[in-house]
Amino acid sequence: MRPFKYTRATDPNGAASAVGANPQAKFLAGGTNILDLMKEDVERPNELVDLTRLKLAEIKETGGGISIGALATNTDTANHPLIRRDYPLLTQAIVAGASGQLRNMATNGGNLMQRTRCQYFYDTAMPCNKREPGSGCGALEGLNRMHAILGWSDSCVATYPGDMATALYALDALVRLRSVDGRDRTLPVNEFHRLPGDTPQRDNNLEHGELIVAIELPKSNFAGNSYYLKVRDRASYAFALVAVAAALELDGSNIKQARVVLGGVAHKPWRSEEAEAALAGKSASEESFRAAADLALRDAKPLAHNAYKVELAKRAIVRALMCASKLA
Ligand SMILES: Cc1cc2nc3c(=O)[nH]c(=O)nc-3n(C[C@H](O)[C@H](O)[C@H](O)COP(=O)(O)OP(=O)(O)OC[C@H]3O[C@@H](n4cnc5c(N)ncnc54)[C@H](O)[C@@H]3O)c2cc1C
Ligand code: SF4
Repeated sequence: MRPFKYTRATDPNGAASAVGANPQAKFLAGGTNILDLMKEDVERPNELVDLTRLKLAEIKETGGGISIGALATNTDTANHPLIRRDYPLLTQAIVAGASGQLRNMATNGGNLMQRTRCQYFYDTAMPCNKREPGSGCGALEGLNRMHAILGWSDSCVATYPGDMATALYALDALVRLRSVDGRDRTLPVNEFHRLPGDTPQRDNNLEHGELIVAIELPKSNFAGNSYYLKVRDRASYAFALVAVAAALELDGSNIKQARVVLGGVAHKPWRSEEAEAALAGKSASEESFRAAADLALRDAKPLAHNAYKVELAKRAIVRALMCASKLA
């Protein structure tokens, strides 16, 4: 690990301006991702600005919705009675991730910002456009069983690995940011992460130094009929091969509105508005779920080792929607 300067932030504006003033600085929250990447020499910040003393861990009701502090831990978020009651999809997604010990340390802001688990990204002996722009992509013609089937480019075929964000996309969350100049802006979560295009080094649309202060969840009509399904190699401590956040608003068996978001298949959680539109107005049934799943994967382009993900994703969508509608 390379030497770095440690700075302890005492307020959000100070944290944002400290990182904003140094192009090589990064925030430190739970440290469960950034410190691993520093130990592997993948990330090389010369300064870490510690956020853990900031008072940004509150989870509170806000005029129908809920605001979740960026520094709230994954464990406290998943266990919070308001989240369990009104957004059980989020609780399910969070507890599907990592392990109990990691969730006790991991914060919501850090979770949104976590980087890909592509093995070539972690291996500094291999080419990787995300780690070193212009060096090539080791995974494109390499071992790509875990990689993307949607939205990838020749520059990068990595997937975004997080579970929590996949549920947040289905819940239409907003991310509140504090800019380096002290102003706030709000980004819909589905505009937070990026597809790789020809700039895979950029995972998301934050400016350098922008601080996530909170995640805001609008009032949800999905609490009664939602389900997070994660398919992985091991029952715990493994990233998704495919995940599905499914949510339905039902009137009897009639679907008023639907959300279908895939994890583990693209550089960002992949919301299928086509599948959602196809479900609206239909009766909840295995047949309508299968038709929606086919639409969601219509544009899938598997790589040499991950064609299995196309059928797996379709089946996972059907299964998640069956569970959400309580037909399974
Ligand atoms: C063995 C292992 C297994 C895991 N399995 C899963 C899994 O199955 N599913 C899953 O979803 N995750 C999994 N994770 C990832 C884990 O959830 C993340 O490492 C964690 O959520 C990151 O949060 P943190 O607070 O520790 O972030 P840190 O490591 O402190 O920071 C991560 C990044 O976020 C930035 N950052 C932190 N806070 C902010 C903020 N408020 N504003 C702006 N930037 C910020 C940091 O600068 C850094 O770049 C796993 C991790 C490990 C080590
Ligand atoms: S898929 Fe992306 S992260 Fe992985 S080696 Fe290629 S460029 Fe790097």
